[in-house]
Amino acid sequence: MNEFSQFNEQSEIQFITKLNEVEIYLLREDQIHPNISGNKFRKLKYNLEAFKNGNYSAMLTFGGAYSNHIAAVAAAGKEFSIPTIGIIRGEELESKYQENPTLQLASQNGMKLEFISRSEYRNKSNPEFLEILKEKFGNVYILPEGGTNEFAVKGCEEILGQHTKEYNFIACPMGTAGTISGIIRSCNDKQTILGFPALKNADFLREEIQQWTSKSNFDLILDYHFGGYAKITPQFIDFLNEFTQKYNVNLDPIYSGKMMFGLLNLVKQNFFPAKSKVLAIHTGGLQGIKGINQQLIQENKAIIR
Ligand SMILES: *Cc1c(COP(=O)(O)O)cnc(C)c1O
Repeated sequence: MNEFSQFNEQSEIQFITKLNEVEIYLLREDQIHPNISGNKFRKLKYNLEAFKNGNYSAMLTFGGAYSNHIAAVAAAGKEFSIPTIGIIRGEELESKYQENPTLQLASQNGMKLEFISRSEYRNKSNPEFLEILKEKFGNVYILPEGGTNEFAVKGCEEILGQHTKEYNFIACPMGTAGTISGIIRSCNDKQTILGFPALKNADFLREEIQQWTSKSNFDLILDYHFGGYAKITPQFIDFLNEFTQKYNVNLDPIYSGKMMFGLLNLVKQNFFPAKSKVLAIHTGGLQGIKGINQQLIQENKAIIR
């Protein structure tokens, strides 16, 4: 793994605040690599290795217009000289993807973008559809949307280590639940993992986790999605900007920001026993801020600083 081990394998831990006798820290996974952000680097690491060990023509994956996963796969492709193909949801984007910061950078990083309709996109994990893609693009290594597979979960086990042993609670934002599943696998018996889903009605994610691990020392906090995936409110933007001012850390508005808002609320409600030490995982995703700000400017609203 020499090729990929040039990066910080252990992220730094930053003290954030002490509130109601509870200490909050942030694991700066966002700093793991300048272009392959946070948990997406963890999820790609063993997939990149499998790619290099196989005889594949390109790495192919799926995503929406602002996807951190698309951004990370494209950046990794550039970094490790791997051809990449992105199957993007929404035909209408084809003529204007240069206006989208995520897709523009992905394309600059050498990713071939293929736009498909929303209805076609629903087949993204259908084996017959994947066969059609292989016929079209050759012997491609296929990663699912969001990048979660066994290699991804294995990579996320490495988020925790010696440096994280002393924390009683670990907070983690959730999309597909791949990241938190790796963390649940590698945490110790004295730790409780709290998942903060970025989407509404996310109770089903409990079963997703159980697909990857039989351990049960976790709980989901379902109330901090702000209306749904990628939905943001002016109150939430204010929170993000105040947090950045106070602690000198940018949070991404889709995942880590919502987790931190929820976590601070739980502390205020005395959810945690006194003297608890809570470690929140900053999973990265800061590339998404540009796209969100573009939309906020169009709507004449305050932006993320
Ligand atoms: C993708 C992503 C997540 C969600 O990770 P899952 O493994 O899908 O649960 C969390 N935070 C950030 C910044 C992400 O980009």
